[in-house]
Amino acid sequence: MKYPEVKNYIAGNFSSNGHKTLDVLCPSDGAVISKVPLSGKDDLDQAVKAAQTAFPKWSNTPIKERVQIFYRYKTLMEKHLNELAVIVHEENGKTMDESIAEVAKSIELTEFACSMPQLVAGEVMEVSAGVECRVEHKPLGVVASIVPFNFPHMVPHWTLPNAIVLGNCFILKPSEQVPISSNRIAEMLKEAGLPDGVFNVVNGDREIVEAICDHPGIEAVSFVGSTKVAKIVYKRSCSSLKRCVALGGAKNHLIVLPDAHVDMTASNVAASMSGCAGQRCMAASAMVGVGPIDPIVAKICEEAKKIIPGKNLGSVITKEAKEKIERYITEAEKAGAKILVDGRNAKVAGSEKGFYVGPTVIDFVTPDMAIAKEEVFGPVLAIIRSKNLDEAMEIENSSNYGNAAAVFTQSGALARIVMEKASAGMIGVNIGVPVPREPFSFGGWNESKFGTCDITGKSSIEFWTKLKKTSTKWNPEARTNWMS
Ligand code: NAD
Repeated sequence: MKYPEVKNYIAGNFSSNGHKTLDVLCPSDGAVISKVPLSGKDDLDQAVKAAQTAFPKWSNTPIKERVQIFYRYKTLMEKHLNELAVIVHEENGKTMDESIAEVAKSIELTEFACSMPQLVAGEVMEVSAGVECRVEHKPLGVVASIVPFNFPHMVPHWTLPNAIVLGNCFILKPSEQVPISSNRIAEMLKEAGLPDGVFNVVNGDREIVEAICDHPGIEAVSFVGSTKVAKIVYKRSCSSLKRCVALGGAKNHLIVLPDAHVDMTASNVAASMSGCAGQRCMAASAMVGVGPIDPIVAKICEEAKKIIPGKNLGSVITKEAKEKIERYITEAEKAGAKILVDGRNAKVAGSEKGFYVGPTVIDFVTPDMAIAKEEVFGPVLAIIRSKNLDEAMEIENSSNYGNAAAVFTQSGALARIVMEKASAGMIGVNIGVPVPREPFSFGGWNESKFGTCDITGKSSIEFWTKLKKTSTKWNPEARTNWMS
C-alpha cells in the first residue's frame, strides 16, 4: 500500500481502533492505496470527551491568539501545497492541476478564518440612561463536520478553520472513500500549534454519521453530501436538538441565449461540465439552450473533444459511479436524445483499471428524462432546447435542487431576468461555476441545502456561534425605570 493505514485522530494522538477496515482505492488505476477504519460509537465518545476537555481552555483563549495558529497553518499548507495536492490526486482521481487548485482554495478559506477577529468584534450601545448593552459571539462547544468524497481537502476547510477560530472544538468525519487528506490535515494543525483535542478525526461510514447526529455532547453538525443523506442527517440532528446545516446534491442549469459570445460560452460550459470529472456540486449538468444556438453547441462539442481522459480529465470515484453515469447516457439515448460526444468506455493507456468516463455532450434531452432531472455527477452535459426564456426559466424552476444557475448572454436586461427568477442560491452571469469567493458565503436553495445559514463566509459566523447579550449599569445615581 502506498499510504499507511488511516487512523483516527483523538486528543492529539493517531490511534487504530481495531475495528473492521475498508480498502481505499486510487480511482485512476484501481489500486488499493490504504485502509480506513470503520469506527463505532465508542470512538466517537472518546473524540467528544477529548473535545469537551479541550473546550474550556480553547474557548477562553483570545481570538487574536487562536488565529495565530491558523496563520502558521496557512504557511504550512503553502509550503506543502504540492505534497497535499498529490494526496488529493491519488485518493480522489482528479487531475494534479485540479488538486493544486483545491488545496489553494483551502488556503483561501483559512485566510478568511484569519480575518475573523475583524469580523466578530462585538457591538455595544447605550440603550437607556447609563445602561449599556453589548453583544458577543460565543462558541457553541463541540461541533462536527461530515464531508463527501469530491473535495477531500477543501470541503473540510469550508468548516474547520472558521469553527475552530471562533472557539469551538471540532470533530471531522471524512468520506471513507478519501480519508487520507484528513490525517495530513491533523498532522499539520498539530505542527502549527493547535492544542490537542481541539481538532479530532473519526473515520467510518453510516454508523458513525448516525452516532454524530445522536450524540448529546455535540452541539452542531454540518454536513455536505448527497441530498438523500443530507435529509437524513438534518432530520436526525434536529430531532436530537442540534443546530444543523446540511448541503445536498445539485442539478445546475446553464441558460444559453442565442446572443451569447460563442467562444467564451463554449469554453466555460465545457469546463464547467467536465472539471473534476463533473463531480462538483457546482458543475454544469443541464444546459438550456434558448432558440437558435446551434453554433454554440457545435463549439461546445469542439471544446469537449479537447478534454482527454487521463490527461486533462480525471477519473470518477468508483467503478459503480462510472457504471451509473454510463447508464444515464444509455438511457437518454434510448429515450431519443442525441449523443454528440460520447464518453462511454473511455480507456486510458497504462491505467486500464481506472474509472474513467470521457466528456459527453447529449442534445435534444427533454425535461422529463432522468438525465434532465437527476444528479449524474459525471462529465456529462445534457442539452435541453427551449423556445424562449420563459420556458427556460420554467425548466430551471422545476428542479428539486437549487445550488447554482447561470446565464450566458451579452444582454444585461436578459441576464437580469435570470438573476431574479432562477430558483438557486448561487447565480452566474457568463460564469459556468459561480462559486462565491470569500467573504461571500456558499450555499444553495431548495433540496441543495437544509438549514438556515450558509456554510462558509460571513454567514458561517452565525452558524458556529451563539450570541450573548449583556446589559450593564455602573451609575447608581441614574434614574431607574422599567427600561433600566
Ligand atoms: P454521500 O451523501 O454519499 O456521503 C457524504 C457523507 O455521508 C460521507 O461522509 C458518507 O460516509 C456519509 N454517508 C453516506 N451514506 C450515508 C447514510 N446512508 N447515512 C449516513 N451517512 C452516510 O455523498 P458523496 O457521494 O460522498 O458526495 C457526493 C455528493 O455530495 C453529491 O451529491 C454532491 O452534489 C454533494 N456535494 C454537495 C455539495 C454542496 O455544496 N451542496 C458540495 C460537495 C458535494
